[in-house]
Amino acid sequence: MNKVLFITYDFHEEYKPPKSIAVATLESYINEFCSIDFVDHHSFNMNDESNIMFKQTSDLLKLLETEYDFICISLYSWSTRFIDRILDIIRDTQKNVKVIAGGYEVNTSNIDTLIKRYEDIDHFIIGYAETALAALINMQETLKIIDIKVENNMIPQIYENRIIGVCTESIVRLETKRGCPYNCSFCSYKNNDHNKCTTHNFIKVKKELNYLNQIGVRKVNVLDPIFTIDNYLELLEYLIVIDFKPVISFQVKFELFHGLLIKSSMLLPYLKKLNVILEFGLQTISKIALDNVERIHDLEKVSDVIARLNADDIEYEVSIIRGLPGETIESYIELLEYLKTSKCRNIVAFPLTILSNTELDNKRDELGIKTINHNGLEYIYESYSFNYKDYLSMIREENALIAKKILL
Ligand code: SF4
Repeated sequence: MNKVLFITYDFHEEYKPPKSIAVATLESYINEFCSIDFVDHHSFNMNDESNIMFKQTSDLLKLLETEYDFICISLYSWSTRFIDRILDIIRDTQKNVKVIAGGYEVNTSNIDTLIKRYEDIDHFIIGYAETALAALINMQETLKIIDIKVENNMIPQIYENRIIGVCTESIVRLETKRGCPYNCSFCSYKNNDHNKCTTHNFIKVKKELNYLNQIGVRKVNVLDPIFTIDNYLELLEYLIVIDFKPVISFQVKFELFHGLLIKSSMLLPYLKKLNVILEFGLQTISKIALDNVERIHDLEKVSDVIARLNADDIEYEVSIIRGLPGETIESYIELLEYLKTSKCRNIVAFPLTILSNTELDNKRDELGIKTINHNGLEYIYESYSFNYKDYLSMIREENALIAKKILL
């Protein structure tokens, strides 16, 4: 029997369970395929940063009075600065533990550098980790670097089997598929096995949705980068059959969605029957900024989709990014004007953060990118096309829309 501890660094939010989908999925998988005594989880709250090194680590120390067989640590750009301390504590408190690391930094960094940098880490898992972790626990694998393809069909539920506990107040996340075929250069999602789209077992997804509906959770955020791939119509149909009441959000792409509106006469009627929020990522309309992040848009299709959603009263949000290299204050105003003219009802503006080893990160000098680090995330406030003052003016332009309740 094995005792397993997950140590992760998460941004806790009210109503959202602190256990991430990634940890829950791993826990559910190893419970099913390994001989497990128990699994513990210590989630550091990145939104309480001043306590991470103190109260939060002292809580971890209490947990480390247990002798674990495996400790799994997530390596993300916002958490790497804490890892050395954690490894010291693990070395001081644990005798025979195997330390395993996974996460974005493992997927994207030079693995030899990581091995030299973190001598106390026994194994590094690249990509989706379920099968690799089970293989390590079952001692079928002993390699330092492990990369094993995961069969989504094998991943058990995480809600119906109470790996994540929920109540009527909960805002939860759910994966129905993995992978994204696109290639945006600021994105941290698309690496290794993430480019290929694979669906989860449909019966499992249905069971999870049915359970969440019975509990009556407040909201389900579907995490699929592009929801409208593969079995999305069947899934919408199922939600209608079970009279799904919670708000449910899907991430969609304008151009793809436009094509589906032409192909499927049922898409809008289905969406109308549910409490959906469609989340579209427009990011920018500046041709130069789009080229810099390897995206394209067809604005006629964007406007058409917005008009049709407005006509059918289907809720949606359009996200834009402030601080893309190539954007100027003029082009940003043009973007906001475009959305106003298109009668876009809800806009969400995100500041651009830069993640290590993304294509954008590699082009920092070329694009004149300047950043400020806040809570482990690097925010771009200047690039070759806008200075800090322009950036602040972009925020002021947003404020006018916030006052009109168009920008959330
Ligand atoms: S569409 Fe979304 S998930 Fe896919 S690469 Fe672009 S930002 Fe990443």
